[in-house]
Amino acid sequence: MTTENLANIDADYVNISLPSNFHFYDFKTLSIRPLKAKEILKIYKASRTNSFLMLVQAIAPCIDKDIMKLTIGDFWSVMYWLKLNSFTKSPIQVTWECRDEKHIEQVNAGTLEPKSLNNHDIINKTLIEEVQLDTDKLDAALLSLGVISRFKLNPSTIGDTCEAVDLMDAKVIEENDDFFTKYAAHLHPDHGIKLKDRYDKALDELTPDDMIDIDVYADLIKHGINEQVKVKCKECGALREVAISLNALDFLPYIR
Ligand SMILES: [Zn+2]
Repeated sequence: MTTENLANIDADYVNISLPSNFHFYDFKTLSIRPLKAKEILKIYKASRTNSFLMLVQAIAPCIDKDIMKLTIGDFWSVMYWLKLNSFTKSPIQVTWECRDEKHIEQVNAGTLEPKSLNNHDIINKTLIEEVQLDTDKLDAALLSLGVISRFKLNPSTIGDTCEAVDLMDAKVIEENDDFFTKYAAHLHPDHGIKLKDRYDKALDELTPDDMIDIDVYADLIKHGINEQVKVKCKECGALREVAISLNALDFLPYIR
């Protein structure tokens, strides 16, 4: 981890953009390199134990900034970059069925084989769409509202996610505790470096109005990877949106 731009001094690294446009960070570049065998091994262990923290730690050396500070949207953008640029021979694949009415009619009439509805696509970089942070919208909102909330707010980070997963595993908080992952995690670290401290503060101090303010903020700062990709039926050409997703379990193509 460094504040230098590693791509300028190490040929393994390239600079990439992030969906947040670096809006929330004290750094304005991010250098990244594809995964090496030692990291694959760590990801393998992470997938075996289904450990999100281990997955995050495994890929941390591939970027030149503190991975724990990345917003969740930026983190997944980094994950997709690593997937697409490290496993070039086994990229993301998706199997889906055409739902086009005319196509189905032809199958029902016996003109086309039922298997003609089956499609298999390889998802490449051009199909994956980034949802960029709308900084104009955010600035306009800040200008018209003055402040969105009486609390200083921030997007929740991967560090928060790791802490939340830990606390859920330890049963300190319940799984899928929205209050924790949404309202507490959007409080700025000035309100407590540890998410648990922000959680306790949120429980004590947030009013229903404050919670609405945080909802507004969360909506304004949306950014990340759109995991809906547009694909085309090979038989009839009809378009369909299918969902793709990455997680620790399916990150490595050869692990079942
Ligand atoms: Zn079709």
